[in-house]
Amino acid sequence: MSPALVARREEKGFSTRAVHVGSDPDGATNAVIQPISLSTTFKQDAVGVHKGYEYGRSGNPNRDSLERLLASLEAGGAEAIAFSSGSAATATIIQSLGPNSHIVSVSDVYGGTFRYMNRVAAANQGLETTFVDLENASEDEVVAAIRENTKLIWIESPTNPTLKLIDIRRIADIAHTHASAPLVLVDNTFLSPYWSSPLLNGADIVMHSLTKYINGHSDVIMGAAIIPPHRSDVADKLRFLQNAIGAVPSPYDCWLAQRGAKTLQLRMKTHGQNALAVANASQGLGGLSKSPK
Ligand SMILES: *Cc1c(COP(=O)(O)O)cnc(C)c1O
Repeated sequence: MSPALVARREEKGFSTRAVHVGSDPDGATNAVIQPISLSTTFKQDAVGVHKGYEYGRSGNPNRDSLERLLASLEAGGAEAIAFSSGSAATATIIQSLGPNSHIVSVSDVYGGTFRYMNRVAAANQGLETTFVDLENASEDEVVAAIRENTKLIWIESPTNPTLKLIDIRRIADIAHTHASAPLVLVDNTFLSPYWSSPLLNGADIVMHSLTKYINGHSDVIMGAAIIPPHRSDVADKLRFLQNAIGAVPSPYDCWLAQRGAKTLQLRMKTHGQNALAVANASQGLGGLSKSPK
């Protein structure tokens, strides 16, 4: 068989990955669903001799499994780092930028993100944020907003709640050719990895509120950052802060979010079909209201 065919056979589709990645049968019993590992502490057979887990904040089997799944679902992702909420992911990412940084943010960013930038990080780490209409701004306008200390461009597309659409590739190209070389982050909460793959369009970080579509059942608050292979420096920093700051999700919530994510493709496909039906119907209504009397 040709190498291309072998590669294609090994490539698993989105739905298959959603069901199977991070869901290996349990080693002790072959249970197809992983047990929930509530233990905070893991026995060491000798000092430093253990099975990869020492203390629950630093690492937990359920969190590991979910992170493996998220890294696989977000196309172009190598590593996922889970947090106790989308807001905790936001706070940890912004803290990682260090003191007196500058962010260029989409002007219609999620309210909690705006609040963290303007009312928490501004006071605590001297963060300055310039809000730009990244949907309509010209290249010159985007470039003009980037400063020497601009560490990050924060994109949300579509924005919550006014659904502005940002051309991720265009903004990433501007960022990556600028001397300040800011990272490009996309909050991909609203489209989910099923409909949008920002890492394939040049983003350096994708963040999610898993609370929304990825968990999908309104019973978990959680967030995550997903990092592509060429930004392992960013992944290492966030992994360190995940443990050092400690805004980690519970094993039970990780287990629930993994279960929820197994049906992401079915739910997003249906959301898409329903949204299209509503759009078509409202276009029909618009047509009616404009029709001659
Ligand atoms: C909900 C949401 C967040 C915050 O996530 P929480 O899990 O509620 O902390 C961030 N970004 C967007 C786009 C959201 O919708």
